Amino acid sequence: MASAALLWFGEVMSAVPLRNTKSAASAVRSVSVLGATGSIGDSTMDLLRGARDRFRVEALTANSNVQALAKLAREFGARFAAIADPARLGELKEALAGTRTECGAGESAVIEAAARPADWVMAAVSGAAGLKPALAAVDRGATVALANKECLVCAGDFFMQRAMKAGACILPADSEHNALFQALGSGNRDELVRVIITASGGPFRTWDPADIEQATLAQALKHPNWSMGQKITIDSASMMNKGLEVIEASYLFGLTPDEIDVLVHPQSIVHGMVEFADRSVVAQLGTPDMRIPIAHCLGWPDRIKGPSAKLDLAKVGQLTFEAPDFARFPALRLAYDSLRTGFGATTVYNAANEIAVAAFIGGKIRFGAIARLVEATLDAWIRASNLSPLKSADDAIAIDHNARNVAATLLPQIALKAS
Ligand code: NDP
Repeated sequence: MASAALLWFGEVMSAVPLRNTKSAASAVRSVSVLGATGSIGDSTMDLLRGARDRFRVEALTANSNVQALAKLAREFGARFAAIADPARLGELKEALAGTRTECGAGESAVIEAAARPADWVMAAVSGAAGLKPALAAVDRGATVALANKECLVCAGDFFMQRAMKAGACILPADSEHNALFQALGSGNRDELVRVIITASGGPFRTWDPADIEQATLAQALKHPNWSMGQKITIDSASMMNKGLEVIEASYLFGLTPDEIDVLVHPQSIVHGMVEFADRSVVAQLGTPDMRIPIAHCLGWPDRIKGPSAKLDLAKVGQLTFEAPDFARFPALRLAYDSLRTGFGATTVYNAANEIAVAAFIGGKIRFGAIARLVEATLDAWIRASNLSPLKSADDAIAIDHNARNVAATLLPQIALKAS
């Protein structure tokens, strides 16, 4: 393997190794998948299924879906399986009876799964619950394919510093960041002008604001291009997901908000671009299939054969681009605002959004109120708090909890308020 924390962009150190060298190793690599039963987990397991001779499964985790977890653990002969819901340990033991798979339950078991000695870890637990397990993998200097964007949004500086300190290697698994990861190595830090992450625009890209305000859950879940979990699909419809990705890009690659642009690209073929001083723009393209960036992370620093469809640009015909509409999608503006505020504001942005999305799914607020609740929570938090940098995971978790409480308190008045 190439060394974990490498120099990139000249003087700037990062845990994202942009100058990769080919691996000399042909040995079987051990992998763990945190969030194995989810959408990213499913894509990862699919890739592992196609490369059984190259990978061995150390640990798998899930939240409550015991049967799916046990099925995967049996299929891949996992050494350890962890279920986050402590009440399900008995059920998991029963489902794994007769196998050699050890099992555990509760948050500590999920952390144990991450801490076990796997060469490569997919961090794909959804939400802020993914932070501590991802840190457990980072702390032992593992190669971590990071899908869970909340690790960065909630505790970005701290998370990346911890990765650097431990010599961990962070591979961006999110499609846009993976695209930037592939393109950034074409130049140095002082040659970079900006990065551009693309957005499909989601199902409401061309809708009137009044219709977006009233959009139903079924409409929000109809993503035009990507098949993903429920929460991230709703975030795509509000463009909150793009906001989270702007924040993610800032922490991952050490970029200022002004160095990150968003471009709406309804076909989702170009995932990210990097512009350099000579005006060269380097882009990564591919069909909208998460197995492509995950395969890049799984094979890194080499490339493995992926099962995704070949990109046929002649068939796609047209690639179109448009500027994002910050007025129609205020969630995107709020992401830049919270990134500029710093000091935990991005943690608040994420926490308030999680409360808002849950309330929308539960029929308590209208779609348009999601961004209003996030904005009101950010305003209340900035008014009330002493702004100070996050020093630990516990700081991030405390702000996260606090922001959730503030959002929950503001929820009834936001629910009543018309746009
Ligand atoms: P899913 O909701 O499909 O899956 C989430 C996974 O995490 C499941 O295995 C779930 O277990 C587990 N989980 C949920 N809550 C907990 C918890 N409290 N403790 C432990 N495990 C938990 O999510 P996705 O796969 O869509 O997304 C995962 C992460 O990747 C998110 O951060 C998302 O933003 C990011 N991402 C996703 C993309 C996508 O295409 N889906 C693209 C880029 C990033 P169970 O099945 O038992 O509920």
